[in-house]
Amino acid sequence: MPSDLIYLDNQATTPLAPEAREAMLDWLSGPESPGFANPHSMHKPGRAAAAAVEVAREQVASLLPKGGRVIFTSGATEAINQAILAVPRPEGLAGIAYSAIEHSAVVNAAVASGDPLQELPVGTAGLVDPLVEFADGIGLVAVMQVNNEIGTMQPVARLAERAHEAGALFLCDAVQGAGKLFPPEGADLIAVTAHKLYGPKGIGALWVRDGVKVGPLMHGGGQEGGLRSGTLSPALCAGFGAAAALAASRMDADFQHLSGLAALARHILSRWALNGSETARWPGNLNLRLDGLNFPRLMSDCRHIAFSAGSACGSGTGKPSRVLSAIGLEPQQSRNAIRLGFGRYTTREEVERACRTIEAAALAQGA
Ligand code: PLP
Repeated sequence: MPSDLIYLDNQATTPLAPEAREAMLDWLSGPESPGFANPHSMHKPGRAAAAAVEVAREQVASLLPKGGRVIFTSGATEAINQAILAVPRPEGLAGIAYSAIEHSAVVNAAVASGDPLQELPVGTAGLVDPLVEFADGIGLVAVMQVNNEIGTMQPVARLAERAHEAGALFLCDAVQGAGKLFPPEGADLIAVTAHKLYGPKGIGALWVRDGVKVGPLMHGGGQEGGLRSGTLSPALCAGFGAAAALAASRMDADFQHLSGLAALARHILSRWALNGSETARWPGNLNLRLDGLNFPRLMSDCRHIAFSAGSACGSGTGKPSRVLSAIGLEPQQSRNAIRLGFGRYTTREEVERACRTIEAAALAQGA
């Protein structure tokens, strides 16, 4: 990355932690060392690779509740698809309820299921009311831990309880919270991904509570106990595991650091309105708007700052963000929004420089 670039897009992805990179290197070898072995082979190097995968599984499990199993996947999109498309719902309860601000992985997998759907409103704070009524026939409720666009933290423990009272399973997309917050309580299924917690891209996991039946999404060689066929990458597993172990050991320090950065940014950008709840929020995410802002011009004036409008997946489509519309913003207000995403490696000096540059550019536009 050029040294003058300030990276403030940690919801889209996080940089690889040096510890995670180091852990991967042994498993990325060429013919000179046996680290390239297939972890599903029975010979000695294969068994060594399998052992590394199991160490990583334990490390990832340490970020998740006790009493469940970790199935490695290619990322959270796959984990979410498996939870929605390959977990049998309780008898007679085919419907799926999900919050209006779920990631497209949840929404589009739910649509693809062909089952009856219910969208749960979030109000202007971007939070699902824990007393929300589920429609008749709902067998799966999906609500995320932390929203990727606006950073709001949902009352997942209470929603999981409500889902269980209705006889439904509860799926939590914990992509933005895993390794940063305690795991969501009460969930039956949890999706996580390494690249949002300073691990490598291309690996994630589905956590399944003991006793919850799950089937495979893909068919093949029967790896991961028949639940996820395909050769695992020991390097990706080791990187994910190391990133998880590091995150677990630094959770409090990371939180304090991000809280300080968010307070600094809010102070400098004090004219900007915050999108979503002021209090129930992850401090690494600030979604702010300013009347009259021309976002494409701001991006071009602040080329050395990597930040985004809405979510990385949604931006570039030209459509107002689905999440910002769900919290009641008019299309024009959505277009006036920016997302600043801080991470473990973001410095105070970078936040100060970036926010002052953004504020000066907005003022120069007359916003
Ligand atoms: N869920 C949320 C909240 C996300 O932010 C993302 C990534 O953008 C995903 C799911 C998908 O994760 P992955 O990139 O591992 O498929």
